[in-house]
Amino acid sequence: MNFTDFNLNPSLMEGIASMGYEKPSPIQEQAIPLLISGSDLIACAQTGTGKTAAFLLPLLHRIMLTTEHDDFIRALIIAPTRELAVQIDRQLEGFAYFTGVSSLAVYGGGSGNDFDNEKKAIKTGANVIIATPGRLLSHINLGYVDFSKLGFLVLDEADRMLDMGFMPDIQRILRSLPEKRQTMMFSATMPGEIRSMAKKILHNHKEINLAVSKPAENVLQAAYIVYDSQKIALIEALITGKDLPLVLIFSATKSGVKEIESALKKRKLNVQAIHSDLEQDQREKVLNNFRNREIQILVATDIVSRGIDVDDISLVINYNVPGDAEDYVHRVGRTARAEKTGLAITFINEKEMGKFHRIEEFIQDTVRKLPLPVEVGVSPDLNSPENRHHGEKRKFKPRNKSNFRRPPKPQV
Ligand code: ADP
Ligand code: MG
Repeated sequence: MNFTDFNLNPSLMEGIASMGYEKPSPIQEQAIPLLISGSDLIACAQTGTGKTAAFLLPLLHRIMLTTEHDDFIRALIIAPTRELAVQIDRQLEGFAYFTGVSSLAVYGGGSGNDFDNEKKAIKTGANVIIATPGRLLSHINLGYVDFSKLGFLVLDEADRMLDMGFMPDIQRILRSLPEKRQTMMFSATMPGEIRSMAKKILHNHKEINLAVSKPAENVLQAAYIVYDSQKIALIEALITGKDLPLVLIFSATKSGVKEIESALKKRKLNVQAIHSDLEQDQREKVLNNFRNREIQILVATDIVSRGIDVDDISLVINYNVPGDAEDYVHRVGRTARAEKTGLAITFINEKEMGKFHRIEEFIQDTVRKLPLPVEVGVSPDLNSPENRHHGEKRKFKPRNKSNFRRPPKPQV
């Protein structure tokens, strides 16, 4: 597919060419025709897949259909942060360069001067306003923002707006907009809350959900809430006496990988590590040993793991919660290849609950939290004052204590 297939306004096509875009990305392929046809839309695609152009292009196209170059506010784009508002405004300026559509970013810089400049610009008028919620509300509350001709609303990064607690602000902004308009929501993830918000804001909407990656069905996922100091003992408890031919342990850092290797060696486990300090041929050798089952446990960083193609890994352990959900899916996908079942276990320390919760939202699944084996000790108490402020406590509902101690035992 090509940008020419959308029949976009020629001056918009010039802008696209000047931005160096040659082919639409998958989300653009799907979203642009729907939005040109006037549908409300909720679209979900991973970060970096080109969501901005997916809404900007149809938006600009439609603005040009409905307006002679006037100064009314035709479209409002709401974004959670200043940085994002600036980014969107830059892309818009590029696309709109030859179109005569004007835009204004409203995000505040702190000084009263900025506010007055924004105020002047809003009063003078701009076809598209890109704004952060709080700042826009301040202007709306002062009474001079005229949304009467507005026909389009975009909520970008809807999931982050939700995370950042912007929903009450958004509700207030919505009340100042005309009911009859085209509304589009873009998000990297689609947690249930986003869906229910979409139902309230959108009318007869279409939905695009692009490849929100999920671990395969045959991977059994589980997690332990565990102090860092308990993790080595936990590995030992999980592995000892079980029939687990190949175990792959991921750590976030090279130094972490080395530490785990030496700690497990001290406990007489059959382990080797692979990291970027090793020469290429040394890495190959370690990998071969692993493939041939001469070593049982391989400890690796993410980067190195991308090249590991070993089937039949029976257990994957995330020694720490991976930094992003993609990495989680990738790591977990190392087990249960070729239709076998596999087990993926993540160690979550008392500071990582929020991070893990975001991964669960991404994979749209709740990973079962298992009780620690008795010999490892007691899990961090997530209700204790020192653990309280970590992560997004409000979203994590700790099970009650009795629940926490109850079997099922880890199925390894
Ligand atoms: P998202 O909002 O999905 O995170 P962005 O819209 O910020 O992604 O796009 C990510 C990067 O890809 C930006 O630098 C953007 O300019 C570029 N990009 C988007 N679509 C295309 C395309 N069709 N061709 C070339 N570059 C693109
Ligand atoms: Mg984006």
